[in-house]
Amino acid sequence: MDLDRVSSRSSDSGRRIAAIAISRGIAFGNVVFLAAHESASVHERIDIDRVADEVTRFEKALQTSTRELRDVAAENDFDPETPAAAIFAVHLSIIEDSSFVQRVASAIQDQMVNAEWAVSSVADHLRERQIAVMDDRFRETHLDIDDVAHRIIAALRNSVIANFEMCRGAIVAAAELRPSQVVAIARFAPAAFVTEHGGWTSHSSIIARELRIPMVSGVKDIHTAFSESDRVEVNGYEGTVVVNPSREQVAKMREGTDSHVPGISRATEAQIQTETKTTDGVLIIVRANADSVGRFQSARVAGAAGIGLFRSESVIGDGTELPAEDEQVAAYTAIADAAGRDGVRIRTFDIGPGHFDKTVERNAALGLRAIRLSLAERSSFRIQIRALLRASADREIDLILPMVSGLREIEAAKSVIDDEFDRLADKGVPIRRPKLGAMIEVPSAVITIDQILRRVDFICLGTNDLVQYLLAVDRDNEAAADWYQSLHPAVIRALRTVLTAAAAAGKPAIVCGEMAGSPFYVPVLLGLGARELSINVNSVAQITGLIRSLDMSNCEELVAEIEAFTTAGDTEAFLRSSYATGWPSIVTTELLPGN
Ligand code: PEP
Ligand code: MG
Repeated sequence: MDLDRVSSRSSDSGRRIAAIAISRGIAFGNVVFLAAHESASVHERIDIDRVADEVTRFEKALQTSTRELRDVAAENDFDPETPAAAIFAVHLSIIEDSSFVQRVASAIQDQMVNAEWAVSSVADHLRERQIAVMDDRFRETHLDIDDVAHRIIAALRNSVIANFEMCRGAIVAAAELRPSQVVAIARFAPAAFVTEHGGWTSHSSIIARELRIPMVSGVKDIHTAFSESDRVEVNGYEGTVVVNPSREQVAKMREGTDSHVPGISRATEAQIQTETKTTDGVLIIVRANADSVGRFQSARVAGAAGIGLFRSESVIGDGTELPAEDEQVAAYTAIADAAGRDGVRIRTFDIGPGHFDKTVERNAALGLRAIRLSLAERSSFRIQIRALLRASADREIDLILPMVSGLREIEAAKSVIDDEFDRLADKGVPIRRPKLGAMIEVPSAVITIDQILRRVDFICLGTNDLVQYLLAVDRDNEAAADWYQSLHPAVIRALRTVLTAAAAAGKPAIVCGEMAGSPFYVPVLLGLGARELSINVNSVAQITGLIRSLDMSNCEELVAEIEAFTTAGDTEAFLRSSYATGWPSIVTTELLPGN
């Protein structure tokens, strides 16, 4: 970082813009804007005798795009098990999807238009359908469609996908970033990304995190928020952008960077040490949220004790239908074998009806999804249950039911499990009855937690959805991000209620939402009574290191204080000052959405 070049502009100096933290890290540099509509296409009517040539031109562009995509994946050498690899696989599947190809070819033939226009209009149509889908996992797909369309159009024009040399060392700003742009720009080592749109779960965000490039989003009117003559500081922990920071601000930021070193050395990180105790000897089990064998292996090296959450929708991948029973058995067996004696908790499919046909469902987050869909589509649910029972035969597998709102779903699921267990047992198939758990992420499940605990073996606190449903705030809508408050008194009370009830019932409660992977929230969760966390793979080393530096009685004292606060803001301010003064190993600039 070049301190001597810190701007001394007076008018704008040190202006702070609130954003949403997406990828950790702090960076400082010159702003470079990416052009918004690189792929805008011109409408051209073509004669009937040019139609066949135009279709051939399109087919050639498809071949070029396919080759390019394979090259991007190979050049970046993504671990095949990571989300980044999966995203490029999605792009390939869009290109190879015969209905996409057919639609473009038909548009050329029926409307007699140039191939560029046909690609754009088919992509626009698909994108509009996608944006309307309320399911978080699909709403972001519109960017993937955009990305693929842009690539094909570039191939049609024989133009190379942009050279991003100007992004080297720069703060790259854009209204929105496509996943392939993130990958392409990453090769030029940008300092950070700043965008107007894109949530925590968008594919571009996932890749930025994977490539460890700091990123913030949610900067309103980004083209007027700052300009290319500005130098800005991006703070991917706090979610802020400071325009033309003063010399003092940059120096302070450097101090902040140093204090981010987690309370664990690299040497310790490399050791496989799965027992995590606080300084006063309280055992905290830290598991991983891992969806593949490769990811779990990384987590294990960092100290994870088994897999606390395996989101089984990962076995569906980009397929257009649920995998067959044997295929599911193979996937569950592989992950359980990797997890070994520490075991894996496999959550049944947490998908909505639009998963395969991409149909639009109004209020999908409140609709027929997760356990509701499983119970509505019993034959598919039975297949999954059979696969899980078979894979459990001599492996440590537990089952989790997603989006449970009360006993009704648990009883119904239990009867399917009992039924399938008896049938397989009658046939002499080797099976074992797994323990059964419920996700606690819907407010009604919190209120009826005593009833639920009587019917399950353990519970999982899904804080991502719990905050969403408790506060009625879409977890992926950047416009409402201020209302997504993990420290809201209602969230704190709900966590306390559930953790206390589980302890009284003598049943394990695993906190498995993103809160559990944030150093800022961990002392609060421990103080509230959490003894088991399941966290994203990248956070395992940091969180186990942090827990080993914490004293449980201090965590409890901290929580006793915050339970008296009436707003998330007060709680956050209190935690920040407590951490700054007495808890140096805690990252005080950590991302706290909305608080
Ligand atoms: C959660 O809701 O906190 C959770 C762990 O599940 P998901 O993020 O898959 O909804
Ligand atoms: Mg959830």
